[in-house]
Amino acid sequence: MKNARILVVDDEENIRLLFKEELEDEGFEVDLASNGFEALDKLKQGRFDLVVLDIKMPGMDGIQALNEIKNANKDQPVILCSAYGEFKQDFSSWVSDGYVVKSADTRELKQTIKNILGL
Ligand SMILES: [Mg+2]
Repeated sequence: MKNARILVVDDEENIRLLFKEELEDEGFEVDLASNGFEALDKLKQGRFDLVVLDIKMPGMDGIQALNEIKNANKDQPVILCSAYGEFKQDFSSWVSDGYVVKSADTRELKQTIKNILGL
């Protein structure tokens, strides 16, 4: 699935730009949203092969956004992303397709994306 479209949702601009650059280097097409509301709007307007979703965001957090996204389309792949130690819950109880600890080293993120997309 070369040219897969990925929506990166994060309230921190430096993370959005880092992920965009790194994922575009992998050949993905990347769009950005800075909060859950914007993400839901973009998902209504267009198709994305995958959503990378920050958990800690003001307004609507990533868990709430995840539930809204899956309610609208249960087959929409979503990877949750958060800073190390920020969340200590059991992620397996959530309906996301993957979980990645946020890092400047994006290898784990890229590998998780490729696994989900079957690349
Ligand atoms: Mg955040």
